[in-house]
Amino acid sequence: MPLPTNPNTFANNPLDRAGNVRADEEWLNGRLKDPDSLFIPLWRLKPLIIPPRGPEHGTAAGWLTREAIKALNLDNPMTVFLGLENDTAYFAVDITDARDPERSGPLAGLGTFEELRVVAGELSVDVAAILAQAKSMIDWHARHRFCANCGNATEPAEAGYKRVCGSCNAEHFPRTDPVVIMLATKGDKCLLGRQKAWPAKMYSALAGFVEPGESIEEAVARELEEEAGIKVSDVQYFSTQPWPYPSSLMIGCFATAETEDIMLDDLELEEAVWFDKATVQAALAGQGDGSLFVPPPMAIAHQLVKAWAAS
Ligand SMILES: [Zn+2]
Repeated sequence: MPLPTNPNTFANNPLDRAGNVRADEEWLNGRLKDPDSLFIPLWRLKPLIIPPRGPEHGTAAGWLTREAIKALNLDNPMTVFLGLENDTAYFAVDITDARDPERSGPLAGLGTFEELRVVAGELSVDVAAILAQAKSMIDWHARHRFCANCGNATEPAEAGYKRVCGSCNAEHFPRTDPVVIMLATKGDKCLLGRQKAWPAKMYSALAGFVEPGESIEEAVARELEEEAGIKVSDVQYFSTQPWPYPSSLMIGCFATAETEDIMLDDLELEEAVWFDKATVQAALAGQGDGSLFVPPPMAIAHQLVKAWAAS
C-alpha cells in the first residue's frame, strides 16, 4: 500500500533508493555505464532546467545521458546515485568545474541552471522531490571533502552515501538537520511571527533547530517559550518536508498553547501575533484586509496554517 500523500513540496520522491544494492560497486559501475541511465547536472548547486524559454525558464529536469556528461570533459566529477524508477537508474553530477555551461560547451542552449527554490513551484511533484535530493547530496559532498576527525581528505563511497577518510578510516554520512516548525493554537486563534527582513505583513509559523538530546515535542515547547514566551501542553505531529538549504528536515507540528501573553525574543522575531481563524482563512483565500500574508504553498508553514484553518 502506498504512503499517504504528503502535502509538502520536495516530499513524495518516487525513486527507489535501492539501498540494499547501491553499495555493490560492480552493480553501480554497470548502472553508471548503462546508456539508458540518466544524469541531472548541477552547476553551482543549480540543476539544469529545460527547455530554454527566452527570459523565462523551462519546467522539466534536464536529464542527460552518460555520453552528454562525458562531452563536458570534466575530471572525475562528483556523481551520486539517486535511485531507480522502472529499472532506469538516475544520478546527480556536480559540473561546477564547467565554465559557463549555459552559454558554451556541449550543453549550451539546452536549458538554464536554476535555483531550485525559484523553479520548484513549476516543476512536477516528482521532479521537485528528486532535485531536492540531488541538491542536498551534491551540496554535502562539496562541503565535506575533509575529515572532521583528523582533517585529511575523504573519498566518496557507497554510491555517494558515505565518505571515508583515507588517513584515520573515519566514516562520514550525509546529514539531515531536524528543524521543528510549529503552529501554536489556542481556541480560535493561532500564533504567527515575523522576521524584520520579510515582506510587509508576512507572518509564518515559528521554527527552530532541534538540539542534541532533545525530542521533537521538547524542541517545539522550548522554541515557543524562547521566541514568544508561550507555554504549551500538547504537541501533535503534522507532516515533514525535506528542505534542501542545505539539508534540513522541517518537522511540522501543532501545539496547544496554555498561555496567551507574548514575550518576544526580539533577536529572533520582530513581532508575534495571535490571528483568529477568519483572518487566516481570508489571507489564504487572497481576500484578506492586508493585515496578514502567509508564506506560499511551497512552504510547510503554508500547509500547517491551511490544515488548521480548514479544521
Ligand atoms: Zn580522518
